[in-house]
Amino acid sequence: MQLTITNLNKTYSNGVQALKDVSLTINQGMFGLLGPNGAGKSSLMRTIATLQEADSGSIALGDIDVLTQKEDVRKTLGYLPQEFGVYPKIDAVTLLNHLAVLKGITNASERKSLVESLLQKTNLWESRKKNLGGFSGGMKQRFGIAQALIASPKLIIVDEPTAGLDPAERNRFLNLLSELGENTVVILSTHIVEDVKELCSDMAIINKGQVLYKGNPFEAIDGIQGKIWRKRIKKEELVDYRANHNVISDRLIAGSPVIHVLSENNPDGTFEAITADLEDVYFGKIFSN
Ligand code: ADP
Repeated sequence: MQLTITNLNKTYSNGVQALKDVSLTINQGMFGLLGPNGAGKSSLMRTIATLQEADSGSIALGDIDVLTQKEDVRKTLGYLPQEFGVYPKIDAVTLLNHLAVLKGITNASERKSLVESLLQKTNLWESRKKNLGGFSGGMKQRFGIAQALIASPKLIIVDEPTAGLDPAERNRFLNLLSELGENTVVILSTHIVEDVKELCSDMAIINKGQVLYKGNPFEAIDGIQGKIWRKRIKKEELVDYRANHNVISDRLIAGSPVIHVLSENNPDGTFEAITADLEDVYFGKIFSN
């Protein structure tokens, strides 16, 4: 199963062009879609999930034409939206069972064993009788994955799943996602570079509706190796450095800015060469001038 997106365009009625000629080929495994807020990630995810229309272009999931054969996509799709709402006064096992009925799993014993295995898999078995309103952010997200897995999907879309999770919850959630990847197309949409670095063998960077990079994260890093230069500067120097050098990131460390510059050579001989990482790739694509 492969997902192929070809020349996809979308302009909202307020004139915002959220997707500009987006073309991507996504294979089985974990695919990271990385971009800042407002880049167009959710617009793309919602279009693939058949929740909104594109203006032009096409999307194929194997033999299925996603933009016209919506019912066929929905049968094989697991979608975890950015804000996954739950019914607060129902416990996990009851809601999952109910959702399985809605998905057409009518055989009671089959449903019972499916619900049990999903709760085990998402590490929610101990909490299965708790009301969802009492779940932590991470537990809600894992419940979201459990419901997304009911129909044994071939395509799983998770939109910004780790925003708001504490580090331990985030780890547990990412481990869960990585177990799903092998026989399924899993698209992880995120603005968190670390999520992609840890999990995805393939990725794209988008900004302002356009694909700026697609490929393997390691190759992306190799492409800028030897070209990232670091310097600690004074706060008041930042404006000048930005004006005169290709500053791709600045971060306050112990009160003073540390800048990264993308350049073939040591910009003015005073910078230190550092090993590039995926964050430099990302900021290089987004902020390079
Ligand atoms: P991301 O998920 O990367 O944050 P979105 O796809 O949500 O990006 O948004 C892309 C752009 O489209 C943004 O400028 C956003 O304000 C705009 N946008 C998103 N949804 C709508 C909508 N329903 N109507 C109008 N503009 C929208």
